[in-house]
Amino acid sequence: MLLFNPLKNNPDYADPKTRELMQKVIDFFEAKGLKKIKADWHGKVWNHDFVDFMRDNQVFATLMTPAGYGDENSCWDTWRNAIFAEIVGFYGITYWYTFQVSMLGLVPVFTGSNEALKHKTAQLLKDGEVFAFGLSEKEHGADIYSSEMALTPQAGGTYLGNGRKYYIGNGNEAAITSMFGKMADTGDYVFFATNSKHAAYDCIRNTVNAPNYVAELALHDYPVTDADIMERGPKAWDNMLNTINVCKFNLGFGSLGLATHAFYEALDHAAGRELYG
Ligand SMILES: Cc1cc2nc3c(=O)[nH]c(=O)nc-3n(C[C@H](O)[C@H](O)[C@H](O)COP(=O)(O)OP(=O)(O)OC[C@H]3O[C@@H](n4cnc5c(N)ncnc54)[C@H](O)[C@@H]3O)c2cc1C
Repeated sequence: MLLFNPLKNNPDYADPKTRELMQKVIDFFEAKGLKKIKADWHGKVWNHDFVDFMRDNQVFATLMTPAGYGDENSCWDTWRNAIFAEIVGFYGITYWYTFQVSMLGLVPVFTGSNEALKHKTAQLLKDGEVFAFGLSEKEHGADIYSSEMALTPQAGGTYLGNGRKYYIGNGNEAAITSMFGKMADTGDYVFFATNSKHAAYDCIRNTVNAPNYVAELALHDYPVTDADIMERGPKAWDNMLNTINVCKFNLGFGSLGLATHAFYEALDHAAGRELYG
């Protein structure tokens, strides 16, 4: 078994450009240092510094823009994303979570049928934005068939979004929160894009006492047009399940990174331990 070693940058990369990119990520965290990483954790500081670093180095744009929508090096490579999950997990669950929920927010866009929205999202990735996945609801949890978020058609072909979501990572900052719900008139499933900074998007609170922001949020007559709709009907449901399917790999690799770092810390602690010294 290969354990990630930041001093060797030893994962099995497919190409030198990826190695270079991952080295920059490692350098960012090594420069930040364990002391500051821990201080931010205890201070419950949201990882703006990491997000800025990602923007400056086009990390999310490279890793999560499918080929053809972004720059030459941008493509969706699950192996590469898994390695990235392991590296950021190694340095802290906060950083991993910002990545993970961004990916959860992006998959409904890129598996959807709205080409214009895909190009808009690719630009948002270049701009260094983060993303969110608005699936879970407090009253329904794992029972996603019962989702109550509703999109109500208006005269003139627009819609109003209303409903609440619970446990939505990056729900405070996301340029796009991919919102899963139902059409109020037909009951068809629908995925649509919302912006966390819109006045009709109410980011109520952080549900966790941690640096991650896991939002409880509500939409109050949030205006939506066809340009915001990613998918409707059975395909919206399939895309929702597939999003979880694609992103589940990050859970395993992120955990591997966390456990590896804990192992090194335990060895270091045991090696330098002085009882009643
Ligand atoms: C830290 C954190 C971050 C999260 N981030 C996000 C996010 O970014 N976006 C997002 O959309 N969600 C997010 N979630 C929500 C997560 O997906 C939910 O926790 C999950 O949907 C389960 O809901 P629940 O916790 O209310 O469990 P419950 O619904 O209470 O389920 C508890 C158990 O009962 C079972 N169960 C419940 N209903 C049924 C049923 N009808 N049939 C069979 N078994 C059932 C479940 O399988 C589970 O084992 C996050 C959660 C946490 C804790």
